[in-house]
Amino acid sequence: MITIAAPIIGKEETDAVNEVLRSGMLAQGPKVAELEQAFADYCGTKYGLALNSGTAAIHAALHAAGVGAGDEVITTPFSFIATINPVLMQGATPVLVDIDESTYNIDPALVKNAITPKTKAIIAVDLYGQPADWDELRAIADEHNIVLIEDACQAIGAEYKGRKAGSLADIACFSLYATKNVMCGEGGAITTDNEEYVTAIKSFRQHGMVAPYEYEGLGFNYRLTDLQAAIAVEQLKKVDAFTAARQKNAAALNQGLKDTPDIVIPTVADDRTHVYHQYTIRLTGGQDRAALIDFLRSKDVGCGVYYPKGLHTYPHIAKLGYNQGDFPIAEQVASTVLSLPVHPGVTESDVQTITAAVIEGLNNA
Ligand SMILES: *Cc1c(COP(=O)(O)O)cnc(C)c1O
Repeated sequence: MITIAAPIIGKEETDAVNEVLRSGMLAQGPKVAELEQAFADYCGTKYGLALNSGTAAIHAALHAAGVGAGDEVITTPFSFIATINPVLMQGATPVLVDIDESTYNIDPALVKNAITPKTKAIIAVDLYGQPADWDELRAIADEHNIVLIEDACQAIGAEYKGRKAGSLADIACFSLYATKNVMCGEGGAITTDNEEYVTAIKSFRQHGMVAPYEYEGLGFNYRLTDLQAAIAVEQLKKVDAFTAARQKNAAALNQGLKDTPDIVIPTVADDRTHVYHQYTIRLTGGQDRAALIDFLRSKDVGCGVYYPKGLHTYPHIAKLGYNQGDFPIAEQVASTVLSLPVHPGVTESDVQTITAAVIEGLNNA
């Protein structure tokens, strides 16, 4: 089976974990500090922070931005659920706007229309590994004094006008979940230039603690362990090689699929790079996606649908007043996308197998 994702773990990672195990310091300690500095250095920000998931990172970012009850946060209906749930966890209201059909990222023109006096933050996602329209979003945020949050969970290493994902907003969030481009099983990170945010997040990830047994408010246990940080530090050293392999595979998939009728292959805007967390095609000829997925699996080609539904259709979001039909582009895209294996473990011969299976499957779908 050519799986849709596969973590790549070398001797560097296992040695680093063993070293932490032998050190006796297993929880948040020097390896976490090393990872935080490495993230800041890699992304080109002043500060890096480690947390125990991407979801925790987004939650902590919203807390640092001062998002709370009565505030509105504008975001996309086409992402993983963890982009939006932390908005609700802070007691704020997510305000969704539709996406751009070619990049699948939030449409800045619609963001502009959705601003109200209650808008406190915008969360834009660098979906599949391609940065959102950050200059346009920055202009809107500056005009209305709104905090910009980058969900860069899928975009480590991607560039926008020469700047790295993680440095494109006021605060950025990464996931180190097992399937992500840089991973440690479960984990997360934040990058920012804002020292006040750093202070707020350090307290929030540790029960709201500001000095030994002094708690300034509600907080969580969102700490990463040194065991996990040790893996992520080694992974981050390899990220550019991982990205190059993903980009090479994506180019080969493009080559193999570009003349196939009634599909759309990924497009990359001129001023940015795509790190292909997912290589996602769209079936635009009304083909039966479920049948194609079954066919691919029968040929040992893994695939995935990211994401099958708009976030506004899930009950806890829909009850805010959203209905099917509210976001036609996101809905159309959600019902037609299909992601194919692109990770660094995919070989040239795997690419041949994948493209041949897609073409054969589409002829029957
Ligand atoms: C993975 C992911 C998250 C959540 O990260 P976890 O580490 O799984 O909590 C959030 N947003 C996006 C876009 C993601 O891909």
